[in-house]
Amino acid sequence: MANNKGRSSTTQTTKKQTVKRKRQSRQAREQELRRNVLFVVGGAAVLLAVISLIVVIVSHRGKSKASETVPAEDIVEMTETADADLVDMIPIAEIADRPEVMYADKPDIDIHDWKYLLANSTHSVSDYEPIIDYLEGVPLDYRVIEPMSEFIEGARRQGLNVIIASGYRSYEEQQWTFDLQLQMMDEEEAATVVARPGTSEHQTGLAADITDDYYEIKTEDLENTDLYKWMSAHCQEYGFIVRFPKDKEDVTKIIYEPWHFRYVGEEAAKYITEKGLCLEEFVALYE
Ligand SMILES: [Zn+2]
Repeated sequence: MANNKGRSSTTQTTKKQTVKRKRQSRQAREQELRRNVLFVVGGAAVLLAVISLIVVIVSHRGKSKASETVPAEDIVEMTETADADLVDMIPIAEIADRPEVMYADKPDIDIHDWKYLLANSTHSVSDYEPIIDYLEGVPLDYRVIEPMSEFIEGARRQGLNVIIASGYRSYEEQQWTFDLQLQMMDEEEAATVVARPGTSEHQTGLAADITDDYYEIKTEDLENTDLYKWMSAHCQEYGFIVRFPKDKEDVTKIIYEPWHFRYVGEEAAKYITEKGLCLEEFVALYE
């Protein structure tokens, strides 16, 4: 009995051991499976990282290679030659945001030529003195006499009355006028009424105030005269521009003056008129 008992307990022990072994081997298999899965997933992640790194390096090299292939001077040359064509290729809305394209067809001129001499509140011509000649008693730069004469004759042929109210004004004259203003107000205020010496365009001898009659005080109402209507429409044909246009007061810092015409030569005058610029903006295209 004791033997039976012992055998049966031995059998039980063996069964237990078998179960235990089975469980252990199942756990071992599961662990191995988990290890394998982890190994595969981990390996895939590492592989993916390596591939991404290679892609980044290759694309970066490709980029720097592309910019290396075209030398800098060639790019400039390409831009210069292609600009005029670009005007036709780029949609109008985009051109407005790209001055280098919009004004690619600007005249091929030397901006330092006498015709483009700039005199304004931020650009003094100091005590500059042009060589003077006279047209109907009014002093002007001698080089402007002929085009001004033709301009005026053109208006008279239309039956219009023309008076050259003011032409060249010297530095000293401007100083005298400015000092006179100083007796009535402080310097800052005076400068808003009369240009400081060296900053008046009349000192260049390239501009004239033209009206159809004598006016004690000139106002923008002069734009309604037949003379101004004709002159503003045709001035560019003679090389002149309306120097202080209505919509450019914030740029010129001078009120709208429908009587003040400035010589810049036919080529520039036509371009400035066509593009709706003022002289400051035109000069800036060449800076
Ligand atoms: Zn004037």
